[in-house]
Amino acid sequence: MIRFHNTLTGRLEEFTPLVPGRVSLYTCGPTVYHYAHIGNFRTFVFEDLLRRYLESRGYQVTHVMNVTDVDDKTIAGAIREKKSLGEYTSFYTQAFLDDMKTLHVLAPTIRPHATGEIPAMIRLIGDLEKKGIAYKAEDGSVYYRVSRFPGYGKLSKKKLDGNIAGARVDVDEYEKEEGADFVLWKAAKEGEPAWDSPWGRGRPGWHIECSAMCMRYLGETIDIHAGGEDLVFPHHENEIAQSEASTGKAFVRYWLHAKHLLVNGEKMSKSRGNFLTLRDLLDKGHDPMAIRLALMSVHYRASLNFTLDGLKEAREIIEKFDNCYSQCLSRLQLAAPGAGSELDLKGALEEIGTDLAEDLNVASALATLQKAVTEINAHLAQLSVTGLAGCVEFFRAVDRVFGFDIAAVAGIPADVKMVLSDYVEARKAKDFARSDALRKQIADQGWLVKDGRPGEPSSVKKIRRVWDVKK
Ligand SMILES: [Zn+2]
Repeated sequence: MIRFHNTLTGRLEEFTPLVPGRVSLYTCGPTVYHYAHIGNFRTFVFEDLLRRYLESRGYQVTHVMNVTDVDDKTIAGAIREKKSLGEYTSFYTQAFLDDMKTLHVLAPTIRPHATGEIPAMIRLIGDLEKKGIAYKAEDGSVYYRVSRFPGYGKLSKKKLDGNIAGARVDVDEYEKEEGADFVLWKAAKEGEPAWDSPWGRGRPGWHIECSAMCMRYLGETIDIHAGGEDLVFPHHENEIAQSEASTGKAFVRYWLHAKHLLVNGEKMSKSRGNFLTLRDLLDKGHDPMAIRLALMSVHYRASLNFTLDGLKEAREIIEKFDNCYSQCLSRLQLAAPGAGSELDLKGALEEIGTDLAEDLNVASALATLQKAVTEINAHLAQLSVTGLAGCVEFFRAVDRVFGFDIAAVAGIPADVKMVLSDYVEARKAKDFARSDALRKQIADQGWLVKDGRPGEPSSVKKIRRVWDVKK
């Protein structure tokens, strides 16, 4: 049984998808006005774990993640840099996609861009207008009449009592304690991009974008909608109001929200000087998989305190996994297996699955994984061919769930094997000048020689990629 904490009910609930065996998942994508920061990536990595986990349980997941390429922030950015909106946002969209790839976040099944979905947004607003929920105000923009949707506030638990009739907000992000009528379609302003609509030229509000894209690609009722906790109000509250008022159906069955990230115990902000993008960390030489682990290692509903010590610890853990995998692969492919035992790693995989079934208890799952790796290390010298192959398979399964890229290299190339065997011979003959030269030759081929203790075979390990940071 899988259980998730549903923000809508405030409870842990058993997860059963609407259609057996299939899961529809919508995650709010980036607003492409800047490089995404590590707080954003904490949410994206959590969502990636969620999806990978569901897939590992046999579900076929249809994952839609939007790209917000028109909103207040992207327009302001494009104007500031004197670029067209498309020119401005395509740069940051590509940067975002590169970063996601670097962190091994799976690409969504469908990735709609808001600017490509304007007709669906116009249809949805038109429908809300027909139902008497959307209205055009004297400023030329179209607003959502919050008082017409009785369920308003059910996700964020905000009460509508204080709502002043007619209070309106025309910006995408706001922190009103009370719900105010929010903008669905903004009348065109001088110098801003605009599209034709039944209400005149203008552009969509941010909230309608997600409702329209989510329902267009996943249907009127979806299984899971996830995002950062900062999106609960007003963004997700407004998504519910828009979608449910239009369809009369429940919009989302499970709402999952990741808590925020702190850097050295403080809220990340440019003014504090602790604002970190993924690129800042890669620039300093940090391994992306260590960053991925550090971002994933704390339960998604707890706030994560990101520190360099934490990152160092994550690096050591990734290194430990990496070394263990290289040892298994080397012993298997360099024909140095032991006399004959096997390890039962199916039990560990099942335990990881059970840990994650409880609202993605990642701390528990990672502890189980570490225990299994320690176990493999302890038995390495005795493992048979089948035993070693089982370990390699284990790391592949671990990668599918955690995305750590440990087992990305499936085999040692024949030319590396050949040089390694010359290297071992040179060492036996105590020809160290030659063995040093051969070690270097192997390094140039992208592999690192690791000498075993006396009586132990030498092994090779693929050197982890050096990250080329594109700016
Ligand atoms: Zn959204």
